Amino acid sequence: MANALVVLNPVAGNTRVDRVLEALQQRALQLGPYEVYETTGQEDLPALINQRHREGFDTFIAVGGDGTVGSVAAGLVGSEARLAIVPTGTGNVIAHDAGIPNSLDDALDLVTDDAPIIWIDAMQVNDTYAFLNISLGLSVGIIRDADQRRKRKLGRLAYIWSGLKNLAAVREQPVRLWTDDEPHDLSVSEVLVANSPSIGLHDLSLTESHMDDGQVEVITFRTRHLLDYLGIILDFLLQRTRRRRTVQVFRVSSRLVVETETPTDVQIDGDVESQTPVSVRVIQSAVKLISPLASERDFSAMASDKGEAS
Ligand SMILES: [Mg+2]
Repeated sequence: MANALVVLNPVAGNTRVDRVLEALQQRALQLGPYEVYETTGQEDLPALINQRHREGFDTFIAVGGDGTVGSVAAGLVGSEARLAIVPTGTGNVIAHDAGIPNSLDDALDLVTDDAPIIWIDAMQVNDTYAFLNISLGLSVGIIRDADQRRKRKLGRLAYIWSGLKNLAAVREQPVRLWTDDEPHDLSVSEVLVANSPSIGLHDLSLTESHMDDGQVEVITFRTRHLLDYLGIILDFLLQRTRRRRTVQVFRVSSRLVVETETPTDVQIDGDVESQTPVSVRVIQSAVKLISPLASERDFSAMASDKGEAS
């Protein structure tokens, strides 16, 4: 294999740096020449990755959680470089969705010259790229409170309190969605734009989307009462496939715009730094990801099959 850069987050949830370095050394033959870069949290990681790719690295092994993986992936959008993931974070949603094993050894064993790959899509907002989801509404308050909680190291009670407090504040508001230039005027309390099917809770899938299907799903929730929310939550917990009248799903393959009457906070892959209006460009097949799913599904083959049939 040519040149691999291992991008290691030493403070990710379950990273044991010595174990990672040892596992890499054991695979020196399989991996070929590689260099290890330990993230500091201070660098502009996407820019750094982009620079290293231009210097000749063509395989990037991200060792960390979704934050690390997302930043490395962002630096590779539109390139031919391969991304591999060794999930060692507290959240490993991208790895989970891509079927990448949780064990350090199994994940590294996947990284070979002829490793199977999938092309995952990205969501571009201004000059940043997201791979999981973008939302506004109840979820933003919970994410913000969870972040505060982590920082202050509060107990579980604080988390429950946050959920109740945010539920109590749930409000419908008029929202205009432009899905691939088609307008929809809705009154909703939550808008979720999902590239990945998972919400990071075990095996719960929120949508039927995949990271490599060339589209994102936009799910809107209309909830006037607490009971509406509880009903939706129950549906997901029980994996009921029926959709409630309060839930609408749109699919977008090119561009989504979300407008509200008053600026509303938006979270983008867990960062609450933006406000509406927000414009999301779907970048199809943005990043080449090493994933065992490659052999299981092939959307391009499905598309050409349809073409032959017509
Ligand atoms: Mg998708």
